[in-house]
Amino acid sequence: MRVHDECNGSDVFGSDICTCRPYLLHGIEECVRAAQAGGAGVIVYNRKEGRALGEVTKFMVYNARKRQAGGDSAQNYFKRTRQIAGVEDMRFQELMPDPLLWLGVRKIDRFISMSDMKYDAVVGAGIEIVTRVDIPEELIPADAKVEIDAKMYAGYYAGDKQVKSWEELNQTVGRKAADDEAAAAAAAAKAAARAAIAGGKNGGREKGLHLSFDHEHDPADAPCLPCEE
Ligand SMILES: [Zn+2]
Repeated sequence: MRVHDECNGSDVFGSDICTCRPYLLHGIEECVRAAQAGGAGVIVYNRKEGRALGEVTKFMVYNARKRQAGGDSAQNYFKRTRQIAGVEDMRFQELMPDPLLWLGVRKIDRFISMSDMKYDAVVGAGIEIVTRVDIPEELIPADAKVEIDAKMYAGYYAGDKQVKSWEELNQTVGRKAADDEAAAAAAAAKAAARAAIAGGKNGGREKGLHLSFDHEHDPADAPCLPCEE
């Protein structure tokens, strides 16, 4: 069972700054596992984008986090949200269990979430939770360690994970905005080179110019399936 709060950037576009998409996928996998074992799995998807602060506010927080002196860090994770939004979280979970009650859920064997707010709301609605399941370490994107370490320090349910001290939080830093800009510039240069090839002679199939896949073709060869040139 997972009650998932919407995150367009990660759920839809695969951003690695947070764990929303891997958490959702982990929840779906657990649901399938439960169904295969003869039980039932439930995913409830709530439209509470960016901790209910909305997408614009969320991206303003991301921007502040990535561009602050020293870069994105677990120590400043909640502070930056407070500075931009005035609060750390706008979500209200008291009505969240209603769909579960409507579905007739009385007991949850595996509750896929680290959130105490969600846990307290579900238990408070009279639904038993047997086991709390946090996200497996291997599913956490490197850049999202900032979020996870900050949340665990703040008291979120951490399972068997090692909770860092305040001093250690300083060591958890995200990818720099400058790195993203360099990667975007490299991707743009590559795209421009590909466009130049596509517009070139021999139908764009010039020897040695297949930059994307690091291999060469003779223009006399048949079209290459991997690089479609
Ligand atoms: Zn997210």
